[in-house]
Amino acid sequence: MSNLLNDLKNADIGKVLENEPLSKHTTIRIGGPAEILIEPSNSEMLTKALEIIKTYGTKWRAIGRGSNLLVADKGIEGVVIKLGSGMDEMEIDGDVITVGGGYSIIKLATLISKRGLSGLEFSSGIPGSVGGAVYMNAGAHGSDMSKIVKKALVLFEDGTLEWLTNEELEFSYRTSVLQEKRPGICIQVVLQLQEGEKEDIVAVMQKNKDYRRDTQPWNFPCAGSIFRNPLPNYAGQLVEDAGLKGHRIGGAQVSDMHGNFIVNAGGASAQDVFDLIEFVKTKVFEKYGITMETEVEIIGSK
Ligand SMILES: Cc1cc2nc3c(=O)[nH]c(=O)nc-3n(C[C@H](O)[C@H](O)[C@H](O)COP(=O)(O)OP(=O)(O)OC[C@H]3O[C@@H](n4cnc5c(N)ncnc54)[C@H](O)[C@@H]3O)c2cc1C
Repeated sequence: MSNLLNDLKNADIGKVLENEPLSKHTTIRIGGPAEILIEPSNSEMLTKALEIIKTYGTKWRAIGRGSNLLVADKGIEGVVIKLGSGMDEMEIDGDVITVGGGYSIIKLATLISKRGLSGLEFSSGIPGSVGGAVYMNAGAHGSDMSKIVKKALVLFEDGTLEWLTNEELEFSYRTSVLQEKRPGICIQVVLQLQEGEKEDIVAVMQKNKDYRRDTQPWNFPCAGSIFRNPLPNYAGQLVEDAGLKGHRIGGAQVSDMHGNFIVNAGGASAQDVFDLIEFVKTKVFEKYGITMETEVEIIGSK
């Protein structure tokens, strides 16, 4: 690993950190170290870094803003590639936006709402990156990324770059082709928005934000919804009806405000959260016979 570390450092590809605690890079503030974490300064550096990593045959994975991740306490072997500043260029051309995969989706939604561009109001309060939002087909309030993505530029493991159209991204409920069928790093996205009335757009954004503040635990670190909704049921409702709101294991607690959120109530380990997830799944299954699947992505060596 030390040769790879040196090669990455010498290649001048942006930030290169060793044994970097991932608790610093996840919104739930939990997670052991990445053996190596890099933050490329642009897409050329990202491509170069991937080439170097491949020559060593070392495992790697991309992350964005860590808002849908639960990283094990033992951390992650290999290289974590963080898409953040450097991968966040943005260009507006009328109602079409070309934006880097590392751009904050909240920042983008706020910025374009002030320009009278509509389509991203749903994302007000989703603390992810544009690339992570494409990967997850992030959504809320009856809309999601599939409604506005025209195409996405993806870097595949073999070093090829390809524009995938909206159809080729195969969006569905909280999923896209990038998750299993065609894994790759989304480095740029073209969004088709619509011109609208600035005041109306800003008002919808505010309404969505207020709704979150009233219903979600904004005052504790968390990773968003823990479970996928087992439609037609809602995970949060099942957890609440099973009497599990507020249930705590170690520092992890089912939020008092929303049954589908587990918060880091103070000093929680990933193991506390894993145990609480299993507890909730068991109780919901016992009561309703419904098997709940996690929406939050669990990564690292358990
Ligand atoms: C308070 C809170 C509220 C939330 N509300 C919502 C909501 O309403 N709706 C919703 O859908 N989600 C919600 N989320 C979850 C989360 O914000 C989204 O899933 C978001 O899209 C994740 O983006 P990220 O950049 O943080 O990805 P990360 O958490 O960093 O990574 C998640 C997955 O995406 C992959 N990924 C990240 N970036 C890229 C990239 N550039 N290319 C390819 N793969 C990539 C990673 O490999 C990983 O597998 C919420 C989270 C929080 C903390």
